[in-house]
Amino acid sequence: MISWNMDLRVVLVVYLVLNVGEINTSDDGICVAKEQCVGSEESDVGKSHYTEDFNKYYNEIESSLAAYVPCNNTNCNCHTDVLKADLKPFKTHGITREMIQRAKQYGTHYQVIDHKLYRQQECMFPARCAGVEHFVKPLLSVLPDMDLIVNCRDWPQVHRHWSKEKTPVFSFSKTSEYLDIMYPAWAFWEGGPAIALYPTGLGRWDLHRKRITAASADWESKEPKAFFRGSRTSDERDALVLLSRSQPSLVDAQYTKNQAWKSPQDTLNAEPAKEVTLEEHCRYRFLFNFRGVAASFRFKHLFLCSSLVFHVGDEWQEFFYPALKPWVHYVPVPVRSSPQELEKLIRFFQENDELARGIAQRGYQHIWNNLRMADIECYWKKLLKRYGKLIRYTVERDVSLIEV
Ligand code: UDP
Repeated sequence: MISWNMDLRVVLVVYLVLNVGEINTSDDGICVAKEQCVGSEESDVGKSHYTEDFNKYYNEIESSLAAYVPCNNTNCNCHTDVLKADLKPFKTHGITREMIQRAKQYGTHYQVIDHKLYRQQECMFPARCAGVEHFVKPLLSVLPDMDLIVNCRDWPQVHRHWSKEKTPVFSFSKTSEYLDIMYPAWAFWEGGPAIALYPTGLGRWDLHRKRITAASADWESKEPKAFFRGSRTSDERDALVLLSRSQPSLVDAQYTKNQAWKSPQDTLNAEPAKEVTLEEHCRYRFLFNFRGVAASFRFKHLFLCSSLVFHVGDEWQEFFYPALKPWVHYVPVPVRSSPQELEKLIRFFQENDELARGIAQRGYQHIWNNLRMADIECYWKKLLKRYGKLIRYTVERDVSLIEV
């Protein structure tokens, strides 16, 4: 912690010395991050406006680094608070047969009985179920009997205000409005979005980890430009695409086709762009992540490039998001930021290369060290063992389920 503070101060001093002509300075010629800078003769309205925001960004980085305590990932502990919070509503009274009965309408019914796994025959997304089963099957020898309702849709199901009674449903992503129990998504193994580049669906995080890391060019050779490629699963992505159209030298953000594409309207009145592999993303210094229908699987991959990740919005979560800290591992971007606001943030990091590089490196290290396949397996194990302990009834085999 101390060394990050020291590093940051050195970087700030170097920045101020090198850029003294660029920013407004106080009476004695020095503008420090915590002060509001007084305008110099050279400044114009745009610049002084920028300076205020730039100071805000310096302060955010400085205070976030000062408060940051790296997590200890022994036994996937970086992520354990998430499952504790998700299971907390069931802690006092446990999980009853009635709760499971109620939950069945929201997902695929699984049972663990005598260390065997059973599933209802129909599975809405077979590849997603297979991705879930990949992680559950190796745990059977240590799991007690249980019923599990696994929602394989994108959208969570148990709304905090609309669902009056406790209902245990497992979902991969949610916002704080929902009480679903988050599990590591199927797509860590298989069943992720099928795009032209990944026709069998995005998956195999273990392989992507190695391939994208191998493609992560060194910082100096990356284009100092913001980049995004993906479909218009959320209009929250529009501002960056519009900025790219007006300032192509600053941003390259374009919409690709997805299965729902019908006309250029679905790509914001432009022809769909060619898809770009995750490895090719590494050519750019600034990579943008946005929510899609729920959280986007893109997020974790972007860190592997050792580029600086800009994460727009903080509502949609997966189990590993809370361990990632804003301004420490990534740049948090307020949802619905205007193109002008996005431009300001990108320019700040263009002009503060060392700060950008530091956050990018910490982001990479965090994901590389704490989101290994072993961490995902460990999370599944902890989650299901603790969930199993909450079951308050004798689980009886449902003969309509098939063994998987
Ligand atoms: N994707 C990609 N290259 C592209 C377009 C998409 O690698 O040119 C990946 C992207 O990283 C994401 C997935 O395909 O994980 C689906 O992206 P899309 O934007 O269509 O939907 P999202 O799931 O992000 O809402």
